[in-house]
Amino acid sequence: MAINWFPGHMNRARNQIEEAMPDIDLVVEVLDSRLPYSSTNPLVDELRVGKPCIKVLNKADLSDPKITKLWIEHFEKQDNTHALALVAEDHKQSQKLIQLIKNIVNQSEDKKTNIRVMIMGIPNVGKSTLINSLAGRYIANTGDEPAVTKRQQMIDLKNGVVLSDTPGILWPKFENFHSGYRLATSGAIKNTAMEYEDVAMYALEYLSKAYPEALMTRYKLEVLPESGESLLDMVARKRGCIRSGGKVDLHKAGEIVLHDFRSGKIGLLSLETPEMMVAEEIIAEEL
Ligand code: GDP
Repeated sequence: MAINWFPGHMNRARNQIEEAMPDIDLVVEVLDSRLPYSSTNPLVDELRVGKPCIKVLNKADLSDPKITKLWIEHFEKQDNTHALALVAEDHKQSQKLIQLIKNIVNQSEDKKTNIRVMIMGIPNVGKSTLINSLAGRYIANTGDEPAVTKRQQMIDLKNGVVLSDTPGILWPKFENFHSGYRLATSGAIKNTAMEYEDVAMYALEYLSKAYPEALMTRYKLEVLPESGESLLDMVARKRGCIRSGGKVDLHKAGEIVLHDFRSGKIGLLSLETPEMMVAEEIIAEEL
């Protein structure tokens, strides 16, 4: 479900998180491991007011493990921050998160109170999936409607950890041109916001540089042209995306490429590295 983020909406989401934060012991920020920079909202680090945070690099079944490792190292250098890559649906993996939460908060034997955790993140990173996996049952689709109703219940995981039911949902950030395209490539921004063709061209251009072999193998390409447009055109021809009259159907080809990317059919791919983030932030500061 697409969320339209209006200023009022954003303010309500922010206020709600601020109000709930004093009762929270630890924040879990869920990120998409293919784009940990673009799938974060920097407000998480502001709103957590120094509380410990675990950055969960979710969808680790889709991202490049070598790059994910670099991200983990990157986050672990930050203050009071830990990082864990996982696949949210996998109950065994989500239990590792519980263990890490307990290790960090270091609950003493005689301390009877539960550890109170808030799960935060932008839409579509896998918050609801993670909550359901942690609880071992279906809780709710928490992901879609931030700050509509004020809920203050806790979800008791019955293992010493309770989850705040206040939706820690923040909006995706669009300031960076690249972030917008990466979010769209991952499917976090619905397709109506950007043209399929444009997003697919952006993705192909990046993948042709970062993962040339995977791309060539998937689409049986012998060469990789420089521009995203030529790449998409080539994929369209290879896949028979031709309209009557012989014109290539770039929209159809774009759909194929994005579907393949999102379902991991091109390979285990990451769209950004910590190094790219640093370079992009320097450029942003100069503008
Ligand atoms: P939320 O909006 O943050 O609550 O995200 P959801 O939990 O609704 O998940 C968004 C989409 O990502 C759904 O289609 C999930 O099935 C999918 N998803 C969540 N976690 C994973 C994961 O670890 N791997 C993969 N491949 N897909 C996931």
